[in-house]
Parts: sequence; C-alpha cells; structure tokens
Amino acid sequence: MRRKGRVKPMAKSYKQLMDEARQAVPEVSVQQVKEKLDRGEKFVLLDVREKEEYRDGHLEGAVSLPRGFLEIRVEDTVQDRSLPIVAYCAGGVRSMIAAKTLKEMGYENVVSMSGGFTAWKNAAMPFTQDRQFSQEQATRYSRHFTLPEVGEKGQAKLLDAKVLCIGAGGLGSPTAFYLAAAGVGTIGLVDHDVVDLSNLQRQILHTNDRIGMPKVESAEKTLKALNPDVRVVGFRERLSSENVERIFKDFDIIVNGCDNFPTRYLVNDACVFMKKPLVDGSIFQFEGQASVFWPPKGPCYRCLFPEPPPPGAAPSCAEAGVLGVLPGLVGCVQALETIKLILGAGRPLIGRMIHFDTLSMEVRVLKLRRDPNCLVCSENPKITQLIDYEEFCGLASGNGERPQAAGVEHPAHP
Ligand SMILES: [Zn+2]
Repeated sequence: MRRKGRVKPMAKSYKQLMDEARQAVPEVSVQQVKEKLDRGEKFVLLDVREKEEYRDGHLEGAVSLPRGFLEIRVEDTVQDRSLPIVAYCAGGVRSMIAAKTLKEMGYENVVSMSGGFTAWKNAAMPFTQDRQFSQEQATRYSRHFTLPEVGEKGQAKLLDAKVLCIGAGGLGSPTAFYLAAAGVGTIGLVDHDVVDLSNLQRQILHTNDRIGMPKVESAEKTLKALNPDVRVVGFRERLSSENVERIFKDFDIIVNGCDNFPTRYLVNDACVFMKKPLVDGSIFQFEGQASVFWPPKGPCYRCLFPEPPPPGAAPSCAEAGVLGVLPGLVGCVQALETIKLILGAGRPLIGRMIHFDTLSMEVRVLKLRRDPNCLVCSENPKITQLIDYEEFCGLASGNGERPQAAGVEHPAHP
C-alpha cells in the first residue's frame, strides 16, 4: 500500500508569477498617473526602486520604499490600507510584483504604473532629482538620513542653510560646533576678540595653543577640522548700527551668543527690522535660558524687556562668574532650535522660553507673550532705527540683582 505523501506545491516560473500578478493588479499608464496628480487626487505614490535609483530622479511627491523592504516597512509608510496606492519602478515589473504583495497584505486599492519611471521620462513628464551626496557625505550624515524628520531632503536644507552666530565665545562655541557637525553649510561668526586663557574654561572652539589668536580664526580652524563641508565666514568686528545690516543680510537665522546688553538690543532690533528669526540664549552663574524671537509669530526681546537695564544693575560674566558647562547646555539648545527651524520640524521655542537652574536641576518652560505696544515689533513702533546703546556692561559694579519683567528674569551675559 502506497502511503500518501503531502502534496508539494507546484513551483512557479517567473512567467506564471507575472501572469498571476497581472490578473490581480490593474495597470495604469503614465498619462493616467499624470492626470491623477494634476487633479490633486489623494493617493500614495510608491517608488519601489533601490535608493540609488530614486536619488537619480523620481516623481514629485513619491515615497521611496525599495522592494527589498516593502513587507517590512510598508505598514509604517502607509498605515491606512484603504488609501489608493500607485506603485512604480523602473520598467513596471518590480512594481507589479510589489503591488501583488501589497494586495495580499490587505491593501485594497493598488495599481502599478506600466512602463515605470523609464516610460515617465520618455513621455517627457516632469520629475525631481534630490541633491546628490558624495560617498563621504552619505556616510557622514547617515544617522540623519535614517531619521524621517531629516532624511536626505532635510540634510540638503541643512547644507543650504546660512546661520550667523553672534559671538564665538561661551554660547557661540557649542552652537557653532554642533551646527558644523550637523552639516549646516554656511556658518557666520561675529567676534572682534582674541582668545584669552580665561576663555578656555568654557569656550570649547578654542585651544591653549591659540591664545592671542582672533576668535573667528580659531573657530574656523576648529569647525573646518570637524567638517570640511562647512563654509565659515568670519567677521572680526564689533557689531554696531553701522555694520549690522551688512553682516546680517546674507544669513537666514541669527543665533545670539553676545555678552553685553547694547549688542543684545541691537541684534534684536535688527532681526525685527530684517524679519529674521533670532535664536536667543543667555547665562548667569548657574542659570541659563533660551528662546526663539520671531515676530509676528511670537514676541521679540523688547516685548519682554523694553529697555536695557540701568548700568550696574546687571553684572557681567567676569564679575558674576559662570559655570563652565552651563553655556554648553544653553548653546546646544540654541543649535537644536536652529536646526529645527531649518528643517521645519517639531515645535520651535517661539513664544516660549526654556530656563535651566542647574544647581537644583530644575527646568521650566515659560510662556511668553507679544507686547501689543512693543517699542519695536508692534504695529506702531516707537523705535524705527537702530540704536547704539552705550557700552556699560562690565564697567559698572554690579550687585548681582537682576530686574524682573513679565515674570522672566532679565538675562545676564555669557
Ligand atoms: Zn516686540
């Protein structure tokens, strides 16, 4: 008696697989896809080619999901199984097989674009090409590429961004350092000073063998050594109403790490006039705070502190002292906020201020409001020109007390 064995499923040839796929998956022409796009129809355009093929050119708005990762990642990419999907590859074969798999996974409305990207290009349809990264850049920024919020598009934005740091000191050091590491393409630095031994306790861009060197020069050496992709533009000058517009005009974002009130007010007013976001930071002994000032989305600095404190009311860093690590903490928040603004990711610190008390390690986030009567950013501003306040900080003998306004402490200097 013959024992009945289990029936082995019949092996399928490639042709049989394709025939099955064609029966299960409708095809659409490139013209039909173009019409869908032009009509603004809601569907997912799924590019199942390899990453390199996608990078060389793809349909506008297409989501890249290489065939090899399809089953693994599609549920994250397309959560709603009823959303229509148009899959495409280079010639229409891989997308057909991919579409059949998607149907088996429960995606209800999947079609494949016949002829694929080749047919699309041959029909002279528009397509986009992402920025081409060198092999070195692909490796350098690989941890950014895997973040959906950054990816290659975000990295391209970072590389195209132009950020100006006011001061290459306590705050400017960590900010510029991390911006350079992240691949922010152009970093400007304004600082008229030279490196002093007393700076090295916190100003990590500079080194012992560069004492006496202009800070912008020392900073450029450090940043270029970290990331040769970055263009560093140094301004070895003291900011004033005479030069601020010339220095600011080519930059998208201004990061404030200045060490005195005249500059703080000048920078705020110039940013308001020139409509540039100001990523602000300040530190005092063991306390630090940071915010993003960008009217009309949120307040400016004068909405909180209309006028500089009287001379002597706020002590300078040299008088009050500052803990070495503190500017690192605040400067890193400034770098982070700058990168968020460039990427358009997350919720920036506009209308909010983060405050660190490092001794108790209490972190507060304060709500900030615009002042409808603000001297500079309201509809009828009283200040319409740049003001050079007299340099008094660091000269007066401070008593350590800081004036209060709107529940927020008047910040001191780095
Ligand atoms: Zn204001």
